[in-house]
Amino acid sequence: EEHNLDSLVAIVTGAAGDIGGGITRELAKEGCDLALVDLGVSEEAAESDTKPDNREHALELADELNSLGAEARLIECDVTDAEQVRDMVETTVEELGSLDILASNAGIISYSPVEEMDEGQWDAVMDVNAKGVFLCARAAIPHLKGGGTIINTASIAGEIGSKGIAHYSASKHSVMALTKTLALELAEDDVTVNAICPGIVDTPMWRDVLTPASGEAYEDTIQRSIPLHRDQKPEDMGRLAVFFAQNRNITGEAVKVDGG
Ligand code: NAD
Repeated sequence: EEHNLDSLVAIVTGAAGDIGGGITRELAKEGCDLALVDLGVSEEAAESDTKPDNREHALELADELNSLGAEARLIECDVTDAEQVRDMVETTVEELGSLDILASNAGIISYSPVEEMDEGQWDAVMDVNAKGVFLCARAAIPHLKGGGTIINTASIAGEIGSKGIAHYSASKHSVMALTKTLALELAEDDVTVNAICPGIVDTPMWRDVLTPASGEAYEDTIQRSIPLHRDQKPEDMGRLAVFFAQNRNITGEAVKVDGG
């Protein structure tokens, strides 16, 4: 039986990013209200020198979601900070009335073979991609009991080794382990937990980091490495998020959206 998502409340972390945008749009089309969680979305943070300025883009996204009929709130939160994560969850529940869906999607990458990788690179990637997913789940669980769902954005790098991104691959393997473990721990409370594994989506991760490091043109990587010969789109990830939220008998799964 399809679970109706109308009027449910979803947190999406990394909402100002490309895939985050795709997830929020598809959830909004199903009637969800949304907490758009990211760095640099509050007025204060956007003006600081230490954070990215995501505010303008997040405001535009919120307008777009409003036009789809969704309520949307921008919430400033660094997912590596336990206190900020707790506050973010409480603010969502206060402002939007409940919490039904947690989409842990914030993630970062850098490129370096292990021999040259410094500890800072390792820690930064593990902190956001692995610890962030743990902290968001921990804070959200009390609100999700009795029918909620967690959707984690992992990666195809969560299932295989990938040269030059050992920290990222380790962090995404951690997301897979967290997904399977949380699914077991929360089954008793009817909370489902699943993972989306994107393949290649045309985002800053590819444009700024992976493509320059590969020495290969982006389009050539697509043609060579993807059997369907096309990259994946943020809305593909959004549709899978909706599918996971609607299908209450699927838990502990990870689905690749990678063109084969
Ligand atoms: P993106 O850079 O467009 O978005 C990531 C967002 O996360 C950004 O808005 C960023 O500000 C936010 N973020 C980073 N650190 C944060 C923190 N500490 N607290 C809160 N927010 C933080 O990248 P994307 O491609 O949209 O990535 C989304 C997810 O998809 C990531 O988990 C990424 O690992 C995963 N993924 C992407 C690809 C791809 O091809 N782009 C492939 C596989 C997996």
